[in-house]
Amino acid sequence: MVKLIKSKKELIEYRSQEQTPIGFVPTMGNLHQGHISLLERSLSEFESTYFSIFVNPKQFGPQEDFARYPRTLENDLHLIQASAQKFPSKKIIVFAPDKIEDVFPPSDDLKVSVLGLTNVLEGEVRPGHFEGVATVVYRLFEVMRPKRAYFGLKDYQQFLVIKQMVKDLELNIDILGMPIVRESTGLALSSRNQYLGPEEKEKSLVLSRSLRRIGDILNKKRAHLPDALSFIKKLKEDKNWNYLEIRDAETLSEDITHSSQVTVLGVYQLGTTRLLDNFQTELE
Ligand code: AMP
Repeated sequence: MVKLIKSKKELIEYRSQEQTPIGFVPTMGNLHQGHISLLERSLSEFESTYFSIFVNPKQFGPQEDFARYPRTLENDLHLIQASAQKFPSKKIIVFAPDKIEDVFPPSDDLKVSVLGLTNVLEGEVRPGHFEGVATVVYRLFEVMRPKRAYFGLKDYQQFLVIKQMVKDLELNIDILGMPIVRESTGLALSSRNQYLGPEEKEKSLVLSRSLRRIGDILNKKRAHLPDALSFIKKLKEDKNWNYLEIRDAETLSEDITHSSQVTVLGVYQLGTTRLLDNFQTELE
């Protein structure tokens, strides 16, 4: 069963009737199988899954694509319905507010900042972005009060920021990171992929291919780091890379001398479209 709710008031009322813990999936809509993988994981774990669709103005910079971000509610509801049919005994509550005031109170002056993790990589390129993300997720957590919330590892830094926020605010919500869903070409699914023309789409494959190659070179061995770093240096001669880095998988620190888990994160820019990808690996 799928229930669509548009107002915060109705959401709070509906939520208060729930007898068992709930799962929660926050999104900005324009759904694809990446989002659906989060939804179906929650459906497999909870009687009720709350699924939000809200294009959050606070996480877009002034020069970014807030106005043209694809809003496709009708289509999104079809995809959600298809998942609902696979889980006939489960409930999906879609919260798709039309008004900003259904997420942020009118007098809103609250910002949630997770320091440290947010001034590097995406945070450095997009000042204020993670503050916008943490603030909206906090607001949504407040009304949803989920037992568990699902995030894609595609936005790996975002996943770390949310985990840290939950820890620091002692919110008692499990944060589950879900694997990146990809096209058969290797390109990570993203709502922004549709901004790419056919030629750009072909070019975009350099991102997933480079990451895969770096993974192969590393082959989980610290001793292979110098080879991986010189490969990265060579790749970066292509100025379309915003960044391509090996960092500690927990702290995102550049110093990985003692890191047993690292993450390799890259952003490749085609025109105004920034494509993100990453993977995590151990180093022995
Ligand atoms: P968005 O609508 O882009 O804010 O994404 C909502 C959630 O879906 C976030 O937790 C994303 O990390 C996740 N997500 C987006 N793309 C993918 C993907 N290709 N695979 C897995 N999760 C994804």
